[in-house]
Amino acid sequence: MYDVIVVGAGPAGMTAAIYARRASKTVLLLEAVSYGGQIINTPDIENYPVEAHISGFDFSQKLYEQTKALGAEFKFEKVVEIKDENGVKTVITNKGSYEGKAVIIATGSENRKLGVEGEDALRGRGISYCATCDGNFYRNKVVAVVGGGNTALEDALYLADLAEKVYLIHRRDSFRGEETTVSRLKERQNVEFIYNSTVTKLIAEKRLKAIEVTDKISGSVREIELNGLFVAVGRVPENQNFANLVELDEAGYIVAGEDCRTKCAGIFVAGDNRTKTLRQLVTATADGAMAATEAVKYINL
Ligand code: NAP
Repeated sequence: MYDVIVVGAGPAGMTAAIYARRASKTVLLLEAVSYGGQIINTPDIENYPVEAHISGFDFSQKLYEQTKALGAEFKFEKVVEIKDENGVKTVITNKGSYEGKAVIIATGSENRKLGVEGEDALRGRGISYCATCDGNFYRNKVVAVVGGGNTALEDALYLADLAEKVYLIHRRDSFRGEETTVSRLKERQNVEFIYNSTVTKLIAEKRLKAIEVTDKISGSVREIELNGLFVAVGRVPENQNFANLVELDEAGYIVAGEDCRTKCAGIFVAGDNRTKTLRQLVTATADGAMAATEAVKYINL
């Protein structure tokens, strides 16, 4: 039996593993895809203390090496269920099951879809959810980014260096993301801002070739020919598999305070999938530290 099983090897999960290992607990980290979480797709992190500039990939790599060197065990398996019987937690994956004294759920979130007809079928054929993964396919081409948060702004800035033209389509006239990034984007000659507008239709033959954009205020409809559409309209928490054990709020986040304790004793939550007001790298790692510290207290009781 492991002392602590961490579900999800993003910044929150790996930080939790570091804290638990430093408290001499045995740790298993279960990750469905690859270590790093969503931050791996961020080209340039500029708001994490000490490192003025670091790519999400380098950050994840360094964190992985630190976690591994401390003796945390990684297994790349998808967790499908957690059971709590007489205090023993059984974590069931697509490949097996593992017992632990405490579990930290750090599964983060997944991309929210636009919800426009044809979106799923065009994924990988003109529609992307990751500018740093797919941007290179659109070198000297025309692209659009949808969204008004930091992801959309940073994606647009990244793509402005590669693409011939970038449309940034936002449903309001002010951005949720950082003003400094907005200012940088405004300096780019090849970026056109389209405010108060949503994508209402995807026009494709084999691939996406145009979008229909509707101005929410005037009601006018504009067709834009393009090669790629980058969807950056936020994320939704990946908590569905744990609804049997913990409380979810109406948006699907696991309800827990700053101590990261859920309603189920011995089950903790850390990172973007927890109810909180600020979802940033620094708050994810802080959650990891807190959840592991609380898990260690719980085990030692
Ligand atoms: P976000 O901050 O939730 O922003 C999502 C954006 O998409 C919002 O502007 C929202 O519009 C828009 N939106 C939502 N649903 C939509 C729909 N159906 N159609 C059109 N637009 C829609 O998400 P995010 O940008 O992915 O960022 C997630 C978190 O990660 C944030 O806390 C962000 O600050 C953080 N992050 C930080 C960094 C960094 O620090 N370098 C980088 C990336 C992300 P409204 O504004 O009208 O709601």
